[in-house]
Amino acid sequence: MDTVFFVVCDGIGDRPIAELGRKTPLEAAKTPNLDKLAQMGISGAMHVIDPGVKPGSDTAHLALLGYDPKVYYTGRGPFEVAGIDMQIEPGDVCFRVNMSTVDSKLMVIDRRAGRIGDTGEFADLFNGTEIDGAKFLLKKATAHRLGMILRGKGLSSEVTGSDPKAVNIKVKKSKPKDDSAEAKYTAEVLNKFLEMAHEKLKELKSNKQREKEGKLVANYMLIRGAGVYPEIPSFKEKYGLTSVCIAGAGLYKGVGKVLGMKVVEVKGATGKPDSDLRAKVKKALELKKNYDFLFLHFKGADSLGEDGDYKGKVKFIEKIDKAIKPLVSLKRALVVVTADHSTPCGLKDHSGDDVPVMITSDQVRDDDVRHFNERECAKGRLGHIRAAYLMPIILDLMGLAQKFGA
Ligand code: ZN
Repeated sequence: MDTVFFVVCDGIGDRPIAELGRKTPLEAAKTPNLDKLAQMGISGAMHVIDPGVKPGSDTAHLALLGYDPKVYYTGRGPFEVAGIDMQIEPGDVCFRVNMSTVDSKLMVIDRRAGRIGDTGEFADLFNGTEIDGAKFLLKKATAHRLGMILRGKGLSSEVTGSDPKAVNIKVKKSKPKDDSAEAKYTAEVLNKFLEMAHEKLKELKSNKQREKEGKLVANYMLIRGAGVYPEIPSFKEKYGLTSVCIAGAGLYKGVGKVLGMKVVEVKGATGKPDSDLRAKVKKALELKKNYDFLFLHFKGADSLGEDGDYKGKVKFIEKIDKAIKPLVSLKRALVVVTADHSTPCGLKDHSGDDVPVMITSDQVRDDDVRHFNERECAKGRLGHIRAAYLMPIILDLMGLAQKFGA
């Protein structure tokens, strides 16, 4: 059976950019290796959720891996929390947390507290706090982030968070999203916790020191993404395949954990544009003989798209191209390259545009596509598909599809 290399280039899709002669970064980049794969395989244009739907990275990854997010997605919190190895129990409500800076009227000045580097101190300060029978568990995540679990009886994930998602706006109070006593109780304990935390953070020694140094203080917790642990079949249960997740950023490791994949740490995999992509590919090649499905995630193009940095995005795409070179000459392998969504530099946000997708194996009836990019792939044999079709097509090429009928 072929081993699947499932490469997701986060946010790689884009729109025409005037400065690039109306090319997209993927069209402007020199990508001889991606192009070679496109020549060997079949390509298409893919709607990750549905045409015109702007996917989040979390729902998009579920969809790419064949899990309908409308069935299985319960919020971002559980994936973030799983990604930093917090142990989740049934009934837990999970959140993602940003350390932020607010003024004396609780107006948000900076949603990331000057991108404060280490949140371990805050996790230690509040981990284990109990309010009205509910327990707060916190652990530091990357940069200004933390994961938070709310544990206890009678909790609900049907609550809003405190993050207004913009600056110069007052922090929000958590509110119940339905009429249940559970949602009301959960919102109440969250608001008590946030208020208590703010009072403590204001007086914190390290914040006084930051103030003295003219730095932004970390004096408020912006929480969002409330969700319960999803009841979801593992990748092995669903497809009978052993799988590995190789990613730098927490969310994608979280998706791998939740689906029961083996999440492998790779030195130098940062989840940022400086990430060591070659090391990730090398690790995947090492694991080829022991696993059926290798999920490789490259984050950088998405972050550069969100910064509007089209030159940086072109460069990062060329970095991906160099890193995946060993995949071009692989034997007994099925290589898939695609994206979870487009992140147009002009938009600095995700968009609902389709993404390029290609599948290379010695089983495919190859097409005339010569370059891996948005416009060329759309002319390929795969045509226009939804991500929901991707795993069935892969399984069929592996000879694992179940017959429909007799
Ligand atoms: Zn994404």
